[in-house]
Amino acid sequence: MDIADLATRLRSGNRRALARGITLIESHRPDHRAQATELLERLADPSRQTLRIGLSGTPGVGKSTFIEAFGQTLIAEGHRVAVLAIDPSSARSGGSILGDKTRMERLSRNPAAFIRPSPSQTELGGVARRTREAILLCEAAGYDAVLVETVGVGQSETMVAQMTDLFVLLLAPGGGDELQGVKRGIMEIADLILVNKADGALKPQAEATRADYAGALRLLRRREGDPDDFPKALSVSALDQRGLDEAWEAMLALTTHRRDSGFFVTRRATQNRDWFEEAVLSGILQRLRQDPALRGSMETLGHAVSEGQMAPGAAADRLVERFLAVTGGQSLD
Ligand code: GDP
Repeated sequence: MDIADLATRLRSGNRRALARGITLIESHRPDHRAQATELLERLADPSRQTLRIGLSGTPGVGKSTFIEAFGQTLIAEGHRVAVLAIDPSSARSGGSILGDKTRMERLSRNPAAFIRPSPSQTELGGVARRTREAILLCEAAGYDAVLVETVGVGQSETMVAQMTDLFVLLLAPGGGDELQGVKRGIMEIADLILVNKADGALKPQAEATRADYAGALRLLRRREGDPDDFPKALSVSALDQRGLDEAWEAMLALTTHRRDSGFFVTRRATQNRDWFEEAVLSGILQRLRQDPALRGSMETLGHAVSEGQMAPGAAADRLVERFLAVTGGQSLD
């Protein structure tokens, strides 16, 4: 494959080239990995101004309907919108809650939109790396708003928050006890809570739920440097396309504030640093597993740990020593 040519087509905004690039970064084949790295290096452009929005919500809350409508709101304002999905259910079962191809049909036909379903992976760590790389490819292809969507199960919210600039939690109107249903950890990472389905008979309930969450958010410590009224809760109707402009204005207000204060850039820098460290760890782990003797040691030591014959820390130290003994002495300079 001609990576230089793929990079050129991708940078010109060609959606097929973008899809191809993402397929390349999703591949586990070592030769594809090398090509993916080359592609990412060719496309790197830190000067590009983009906004990465994380969006989470349980199945049925209205994520697809919201993204379909919200995406078109952004496009009407002249933006280009990419939607990437992370679906922990596909990692576990091979089946997918988000992968359904009929989702967001109208948006996917819009030339200013690009929608990519969740990759089917076996481990969430691999999904994180590939999603981050997919974000970079989308941005290189000119998508200035990237929505990273996930279902509200497992660790995926934290992961999404770690790769985006702001995190939006979508909720449905609920009874009095729904506050407990949302884990505190998720409330803490949410910059904006949107209570969806604020229409028809559900409207009063949606408003009550919004007020409950607004109250709960006020009790959480405000993030240093953020405006006084954040994190905030708004009500929207994805179906009636109501409240979407206000939601976007809130996201912009927070982003502008964070850009002005320098927090935006610092957060991305920290995220890049974390990404780098994770990649180092996974690279070392991969090297470990590739070496038959080390893999054997890892299994033996792991067994000793699970049998209670060795402490986990001591076993890890021993494996690291062996790793260094095998790979050591090879000076790179
Ligand atoms: P997802 O599983 O989170 O992607 O949810 P969907 O977007 O598929 O929506 C689940 C159901 O909720 C569908 O029947 C939608 O028509 C409905 N729904 C989504 N948004 C709204 C809304 O704003 N108002 C109402 N009344 N129903 C909605």
